[in-house]
Amino acid sequence: MNGAAAAAVREEFRRVHGGEPDGVWAAPGRVNLIGEHTDYCDGFALPMALPQRTLVAARRRDDGLLRLHSAQGDGRTTELRVADLAPGGTGGWARYPAGVVWALRERGLDVGGADLHVSSTVPTGAGLSSSAALECAVAVAYDDLHGLGLDRPVLARVAQHAENAFAGVPCGIMDQMASVCCTAGHALHLDSRSLEVRQVPLDLTGHGLSLLVLDTRVQHDLADGAYAALRAGCERAAELLHVPALRELTEPDLPAALAALPPDLVPLVRHQVTENARVERTVDHLAAGEPEALGPVLTAGHASLRDDYRISCPETDLAVESAVAAGALGARMTGGGFGGSVIALVPAEAAAAVAAAVGDAFAAAGFTAPAVLEAVPSAGAERIG
Ligand code: ADP
Ligand code: MG
Repeated sequence: MNGAAAAAVREEFRRVHGGEPDGVWAAPGRVNLIGEHTDYCDGFALPMALPQRTLVAARRRDDGLLRLHSAQGDGRTTELRVADLAPGGTGGWARYPAGVVWALRERGLDVGGADLHVSSTVPTGAGLSSSAALECAVAVAYDDLHGLGLDRPVLARVAQHAENAFAGVPCGIMDQMASVCCTAGHALHLDSRSLEVRQVPLDLTGHGLSLLVLDTRVQHDLADGAYAALRAGCERAAELLHVPALRELTEPDLPAALAALPPDLVPLVRHQVTENARVERTVDHLAAGEPEALGPVLTAGHASLRDDYRISCPETDLAVESAVAAGALGARMTGGGFGGSVIALVPAEAAAAVAAAVGDAFAAAGFTAPAVLEAVPSAGAERIG
């Protein structure tokens, strides 16, 4: 599969840029099984890479120019001078790949220009991290092209810095860590403080299960402002509780912690603490070989995001409720919130019926039909050609 995919992107590169690329790299989108909005509180998450991924064919240039083209772009090639790259200076989709080159140079790495052609199967704006896939594909390409030898967490930090500081989009580290560190057949247990990772075997098919991704096709503008407010609220709570980050607290600490906080911070802290506990519970169920037991943990995670964190919306709530009513073992929104995608753990034989039931519920509510994918735990970023 890699060979054919790489050949197709090489062909597109030849058409766009002329001549051969030096290589082809790929980085996947992701879904997060559990552990939502915990990364900026130094907490835990359990993402997995999707088979959908972003490919980048790249060729070094010696003249300091960065020439960017995407099969999902506007058909034009964006040309930038590497030495002139500055935060806020580049708009549109090009700010993600350009941001990676800028972030590498910010680390003192003397990288120059390139011709890049991007082609992706990750849906954009669906909460499946097409932005991280794009950044990470460019980061691994540059790492190889310049023999930088950066380790995976450093590549993830570079990609995150590009998104935060250059593209101007606030995000934690989970998306980028998932894209560079995941491996096929596993979920990735991520400690967002140390960036230590553990590969957790995830054999859903072997247990007759399937993980559906229901893309609600909605993205509300609330997302960015709400993210900043939630993050600030968590930081204020940590300060009031005299801990470096909320991840320090565990469930036995909760009653005393909540009693010490102003009412507006109580639900935020409750979500953070119970969500980290749900990550550990999920890992325990997987280690015990009982993935079907994850269902109620996922649904409890959704309730916490809906009622405590308040980042759900009618579309994600309806997707969760209609999936569970139609036989899903559990379901929850995944990603930043206010739209995006829902994951549903379903017995494989019920997958089609659950997807159809969610579609019917959306039609009855007057919502746009959701897109359905199956999340098969796939490989992280790699060179493929
Ligand atoms: P998500 O990461 O959930 O898909 P974001 O809003 O963070 O949503 O990122 C989507 C943006 O990333 C797109 O609007 C576009 O600017 C950029 N992007 C992602 N993939 C591509 C691609 N293949 N080609 C061009 N731009 C892309
Ligand atoms: Mg994104």
